[in-house]
Amino acid sequence: MNTEREREKRQFGHRARLALTPAQIRPMDDQAHAARAMWNQLHDLWTMTPKCRRSLSRMDQTLRQARKEIDWYAVLPAQAAQAVLKTYFQAWRNCWDGRADEPNFKARFRTAMSVDIPQGRDLQIKRVHRRWGMVNIPKIGRVRFRWTKDLPVGKLANKENRITGARLVKDGLGWHIAFRIQTLEPKPEPHTGPEIGIDAGVNLPLALSDGNHQDHERPARLPDGTADRDKWLNPDEKAKLLRLERQAAHRKSFRKPKERSSNRLHRTYDQIKQLRARATRRAVDWQHQTTTNLARSYGTVVVEQLNITNMVKSARGTIEEPGKNVAQKSGLNRSISQEAWGRTVTMLTYKTARHGGTLHKVPAPNTSLRCSACGFLTPGSREDQATFVCKNPDCGWSGNADWNAARNILHLYRIGLVAIPAAGRAVVRRTRGAKPATAR
Ligand SMILES: [Zn+2]
Repeated sequence: MNTEREREKRQFGHRARLALTPAQIRPMDDQAHAARAMWNQLHDLWTMTPKCRRSLSRMDQTLRQARKEIDWYAVLPAQAAQAVLKTYFQAWRNCWDGRADEPNFKARFRTAMSVDIPQGRDLQIKRVHRRWGMVNIPKIGRVRFRWTKDLPVGKLANKENRITGARLVKDGLGWHIAFRIQTLEPKPEPHTGPEIGIDAGVNLPLALSDGNHQDHERPARLPDGTADRDKWLNPDEKAKLLRLERQAAHRKSFRKPKERSSNRLHRTYDQIKQLRARATRRAVDWQHQTTTNLARSYGTVVVEQLNITNMVKSARGTIEEPGKNVAQKSGLNRSISQEAWGRTVTMLTYKTARHGGTLHKVPAPNTSLRCSACGFLTPGSREDQATFVCKNPDCGWSGNADWNAARNILHLYRIGLVAIPAAGRAVVRRTRGAKPATAR
């Protein structure tokens, strides 16, 4: 039977590497610096203006005036300047809705460089080779980019399937382009695959309740027990990083207070950034592959509701009441934040939806301390970071501590304890007709 399936709109991004020539990198950097300066000027204006007189049109007017008067602002295309204003307002909206902190000044060396191309028709994308595409970048010209995904351009583009814009972003490995893509796709059939509980472990990157753990074989800890923040680098790359860090420290020691850092020091910093960007790219690649496989195999994915920033902050404590064992706790927390659990959950959310599955979050307390076989909290059961041996005399279940937590997470979902996002905060609600807590 050939029935027309319901279609739904999908918006997503696609990132590709840009092949800019050295002569193009310079004006590209200038654009990004101008965009950053514009943000800072807007922020200055916003904070100086009394509350009752702040308005979008006023800011827009100032922006236009500044573009006329300050000549190096002119390197930034008008559309990109408008995008800065739009992003600035969005930053405030995110703050007011409780999603982010207040926007702040962007410092030259601490800010990711980026420029927006808000209109898709400016891009004029064309595929020129099996592996290369061409894109038009305002005020720079035609630039090649790596073609790794079929994009809705040329004859494939229409009202529903098209590129709506792009953002240029620079990291340690150079300039990249992130396309904003909009497509109309058939709605996926509901996924009938099994249920799975997933825990972001410290020993296992992703522990699964059915024992099908996902591991990247890069230990989170060094032999001496401290967290390895460069685990995604190979031994020779780690040695290079260490050498560069020593070199940077040495060069820095010659710098007098308030003196500018030397060009040599900046070159060393750039090399360090490059290694770190490579590590991040590997981590993200692993996350993408793993989450895609998970979304394909499982219909219902259950994860823990946890707030990583709070965990790191809570270890630090406050000035009046400094945290205890901060080093150990933040060491643990650092490896948690490095696994970038938040990013994994984001990926799982949209990937499960694309495959017709669902993702649920359950409240976190005690999932790592409670026994997943008998359901009791018996003191001393979690013997160390890796092993869990139930001390309840009637039970005695033993296994990997992360696996235990993953089993608990799935159990919490099965008894109906699901966190439901409401007005920005997760509220725990027991669904109707849920099984009683003792059922295992
Ligand atoms: Zn037990």
